[in-house]
Parts: sequence; C-alpha cells; structure tokens
Amino acid sequence: MNLEHLLTDEDRQIRETVRDFTKKEIIPNTKNLEADYSQVEKVHQKLVDLGIQALGYPADYGGGDGTNTALGIICEELAKGDGGISLSAGINWGIILKPAIVVKNKTVMDRFVPSFCGGKLAYACLSMTDEAGGADSENPLLAGAGIKTTARLEGDEYVINGSKAWPTHGGIAECYLTICTTDPKAGDEGVALIYVPKDAPGLSFGKPEKKMLFKTSVNSAVHYDNVRVPKEYRLAGPGMDANFYHFLESGTGWHSATMSLGIAERAFEIVLDYTGTRQGGFKPVRQHSMAAGILADMAIGLDMMRASIYNLSCMMDHLDVYGSPWSPTFISKAAATRVFASDMAVAIVNKGAELLGSMAISEDFPYEKCLRDAKVTQLWLGGQQICRYRVARGYYDLKNWA
Ligand SMILES: Cc1cc2nc3c(=O)[nH]c(=O)nc-3n(C[C@H](O)[C@H](O)[C@H](O)COP(=O)(O)OP(=O)(O)OC[C@H]3O[C@@H](n4cnc5c(N)ncnc54)[C@H](O)[C@@H]3O)c2cc1C
Repeated sequence: MNLEHLLTDEDRQIRETVRDFTKKEIIPNTKNLEADYSQVEKVHQKLVDLGIQALGYPADYGGGDGTNTALGIICEELAKGDGGISLSAGINWGIILKPAIVVKNKTVMDRFVPSFCGGKLAYACLSMTDEAGGADSENPLLAGAGIKTTARLEGDEYVINGSKAWPTHGGIAECYLTICTTDPKAGDEGVALIYVPKDAPGLSFGKPEKKMLFKTSVNSAVHYDNVRVPKEYRLAGPGMDANFYHFLESGTGWHSATMSLGIAERAFEIVLDYTGTRQGGFKPVRQHSMAAGILADMAIGLDMMRASIYNLSCMMDHLDVYGSPWSPTFISKAAATRVFASDMAVAIVNKGAELLGSMAISEDFPYEKCLRDAKVTQLWLGGQQICRYRVARGYYDLKNWA
C-alpha cells in the first residue's frame, strides 16, 4: 500500500536517515548490543547526535517540534534493527513529557524538558504497572480503582507510596511519570499523574529484569516510600489527569504498533531474501506456490498494518479534525491499531519461520530475534485483552466494574 502522499519531504528524509543508521549501526551488531548495555548507550548517544531525542520536544526548549508521523516512522525503522532500542527512543523523545507539554505545565517542562534537548542522552520512564494488581492499573473498566500507588496532598507537596513493576528505564531515568490515585473510590477523579525526579528522597529501584527479548532496554521495579514532590509536579488536576492517562494509553499503544510493524517488516525482508536463494525441489523455495502464498500473506499483513498505523499517526497530528484524543472513539481506534498490529506481527513472524526451516531458530541467523521481539507487543500495556476492552468501549457502553 502506498502511503507516500501522507508524508512530507522532511518525513522522507528522516526515514532515509534512520533506515541508513539502523542498517549500519544496529543490524550488524545486534548480538553485541544484546550482550552489553554500554554499546546500547553509544547507539542512543548517536541518535541524540542526529537530533532524534530532541525531535519531539517544543522548539522553545531547543526541540524539533516533530510530528507523530515522523516519530512513528523513526520507531518503525529502529525496530527493524532492535525492538528495545526503538522502545527506548520512543519513550525518551517525548511520550512521557508530552502530556505536560500539551497542558503547558511550565513547572514540569522547565524542570525536565531541557535534559532531553541538550545533546546528551537522557531517559524518561512511564511508571504505571503496579506490582500489586498488574494490568488492573491499565484497565479502563476499573476507572482508576485498579491503581494501587497512592498520592496524598500534604501542604504544598504530594506524598507518594507504592511500587511499580517492570517500568522501562526504571533506575536509569531521570524523570518518572507516575500513575497514582488520590482516592481509589473516586474512580477517574482520583487518578493523578505526577512527575517524579530520580533524586527524590524515598525513590528506589529493583534489579533489572532478565528477559528473553528486548534485552537492549532496561526494566526495573520502582518503589515509592513517602516520596515527596512539589504539588506543581502533578500534571493538571482531577479529571484532566485521567483524560491524559487515557490519552497516554493511546500514545503508548500507537508506539507499540510502530514497533510491531518494524519487527514484522524485518522478518519479511529476511524471509524474502533467504527463500530467493535457498533451493528446494530444484528451485528457489519462494518459487513454490505454497511459499508464494505465505509470502503474499506476509506482505498483505504488512500493508494493512502500515495503513492502520500511518492513519493513526495522521489522526494524532490532526486533532482539530479527529477531536479529543481521550474520547472513547479516539481511544478505540488507537487500541484497535495496537491489537491488530501486535497480533499481525506475531502471525507474520511465525508464518515466515516455516519458510526458513532450522535457520528460523538458529542463533547464527537473524530471524530468531524477530521471533523473540514480536511477542512482547502482545503482552505489555495491559495485554491484548485489556486493550480489546478499549476497542469495545468505542462502540457501546461497556460497563465499569468498579
Ligand atoms: C518489555 C516490557 C516493557 C514494559 N514497560 C513498562 C513501562 O514502561 N511502564 C510500566 O508501567 N509497565 C511496563 N511493563 C509492564 C507491562 O505493562 C505489564 O506487564 C502488563 O501491563 C501486564 O501486567 P502483568 O504482567 O502484571 O499482568 P497481569 O496483571 O498478571 O495479567 C496477566 C494477563 O491476564 C489478563 N488479564 C488481567 N486482568 C484482566 C481482566 N480484567 N480481564 C481480562 N483479562 C485480564 C491479561 O491478558 C494480562 O496480560 C513492561 C513489560 C514488559 C514485558
């Protein structure tokens, strides 16, 4: 499917730059990168040098005012090389601070944005999944009642208590967007989004999780023990914070979908290439009709993913047309894109493996990484089940349980 008409010349230039970067700096080094995090940091610093980290931030702060379309393309291209690097880049360039930028919370922007625009690598973190309750904190049907981390206003400060499991960049980020509740019984009115600096007393971190995929991104628990931050570090206040929480769920779902796409595109490239030379039945494998059918299905899936994701990027860039990004309709479309992209990526990668035989799982061949990386996009952010609730809520009044 041709979506070039949706892109600007700048988008195309960014795509070429990041595609080239991925081919030269990531794809030939994936094994080293997975084994040694200091190598990953060097790759991130090179992305900073290319202006990628600052791209999503406002020009007033030295950022690039980049569009979601451009940012989506960057994540897609990076994910062709490595999902974890794509994940980190997307989180650092602005997803976490975007809500503060949109509501113009100047205290938060002045405190945190400059680090991301100053030419040095900086990490941000979405501290959301509660250790107790897991996906409950991400379940829209619980309307905030599933959030276990609490925030209590004392004078001019919020006091935060709780523990988050698996946040990406836990322990290495300098800014933690923490999803809390001021009162679980108040539902969405109790949801509080509070930015916490790494040096806040009472903040501590668990050991990095050991995982079979996305080894190039760090996940560690984040613990809050009477952590105090100025009340101005809360995003916006009751009601609006919940709206932005739902908006964030769309934004992170969109980001997840761009990674699914990049991983599946890389899988297709590998299978197309390998089956063009590997012989079976006296001809290249891809010349067999059964192989052609599988390759065609992979290509169809990729086209549909790309259409759905680029459409969502454009919707996010044209809120004047598509309305509030936290409306059930908007969230439903974003969730549908995420669910479809994750399921399709896993299907594409699994099916493609059948055309590679033993090489699909060889550690000396690049495909096993696609098999590993694709799976996580179905598991995070509440998983596919919770995400489907978001889709359904765009069409009917799926009841809250809280
Ligand atoms: C690589 C990686 C990166 C991550 N990054 C972050 C991050 O940056 N920030 C962050 O906060 N978290 C992050 N997470 C955590 C992730 O978002 C959670 O693991 C995920 O939301 C599911 O929570 P859980 O593992 O506790 O699953 P559980 O809560 O134990 O749920 C298990 C499964 O049960 C099902 N389920 C649960 N409740 C329901 C229900 N009500 N209805 C139907 N089905 C249900 C779902 O399918 C769910 O996947 C990350 C995880 C991974 C693996």
